[in-house]
Amino acid sequence: MKNFEHVDARSLAEASRLLTEKPSVAIAGGQDLLCMMKDGLLEPARVVNLKSIPGLSRIVYDEAKGLSIGALVTLSELEEHPAVRQLYPAIAQAAGLVGSPQIRNLGTAGGNLCQKPRCWYYRGHFPCLRRGGDYCSAAAGQNRYHCILGGDPCYMVHPSDLAVPLVAFGARVEIAGPKGRRSVPLEEFYIPPRVDVTRETILRPGEVVTAIVVPPARGRISAFVKFAERGAWDFAVASVAVVVQKGEDGKLMGGRVVLGGVAPVPWLAPKASEALTGSELSEAAFGRIAELALEGAQPLAQNGYKVPLTKSLVRKALRMAVNA
Ligand SMILES: Cc1cc2nc3c(=O)[nH]c(=O)nc-3n(C[C@H](O)[C@H](O)[C@H](O)COP(=O)(O)OP(=O)(O)OC[C@H]3O[C@@H](n4cnc5c(N)ncnc54)[C@H](O)[C@@H]3O)c2cc1C
Ligand code: SF4
Repeated sequence: MKNFEHVDARSLAEASRLLTEKPSVAIAGGQDLLCMMKDGLLEPARVVNLKSIPGLSRIVYDEAKGLSIGALVTLSELEEHPAVRQLYPAIAQAAGLVGSPQIRNLGTAGGNLCQKPRCWYYRGHFPCLRRGGDYCSAAAGQNRYHCILGGDPCYMVHPSDLAVPLVAFGARVEIAGPKGRRSVPLEEFYIPPRVDVTRETILRPGEVVTAIVVPPARGRISAFVKFAERGAWDFAVASVAVVVQKGEDGKLMGGRVVLGGVAPVPWLAPKASEALTGSELSEAAFGRIAELALEGAQPLAQNGYKVPLTKSLVRKALRMAVNA
């Protein structure tokens, strides 16, 4: 590993200054960043510690304003928080399914949303498009874990479990940087490869995520399901979050279906989400929603299995949500 300096930021303003003075990266729990640095994929001159900034590790629930999750809240804290478990179960479930207990004890919500791609060519130093090269090694290579929706020209899958239910709940990301503060819907935080294949998020130099704000639950029910090859410690091969509202007539009143592990960004499935409105709570109706969620999927040579797998996860997530 190349030598670097490690600096504790004492405030958001100081973090922004430290991050822009020389080639620098922010560190939170370090569960992804240190892997990137040890593998020589990132060689910053300076690592700016965000954990020394006060006030970023709080979870605050307010019935009128909703849920505010500080960027430095750990995944374990999120998983165990009583209001999150009761009102936003899909978020608690996703946090509880990230990696191992050790990773969840150190890994933070902000770091989880900003983690780098896991594509094995990208992590393996291949000079692919995302690393500034001129072709995607996965397109005609080993692509069984790659995307089936929204690829071209890069077929990576977004690695964050937490982002999936957060998009389903319509969460916003709070950002602070050299030009002040801004807040964006989480689905607009991520950059699809067709827009810019070299960047994953809209963060500009010196900007950091300070919090994630989730609108009030207001009777919405939710579930998150994930399929991973090793149940105890693995990234999603596919995952699904559903957030829905049940009407008094026994039908659904609308909501969102979001897919993980199948696209370069958390994949908000618009037709499936629209079909929730007025849907009956039957297996046949859930099957139709699952078909719509995967409409337009274009598997690569080795990952066609993700289509039926993800459809079954959509049905399971709907069943879980309405029976909770
Ligand atoms: C073995 C293993 C298994 C894993 N399994 C999963 C899994 O199943 N699901 C999953 O979702 N993830 C998984 N991860 C990925 C990841 O380590 C964790 O999700 C963790 O949440 C990352 O958070 P962190 O605070 O440690 O981030 P860090 O490693 O500190 O940072 C990650 C990236 O985000 C940036 N960053 C951190 N905080 C901020 C901020 N506030 N603002 C702006 N940028 C920021 C850093 O600069 C860095 O680029 C796994 C990692 C490992 C090593
Ligand atoms: S999928 Fe993306 S990250 Fe992976 S090799 Fe292709 S361009 Fe690179």
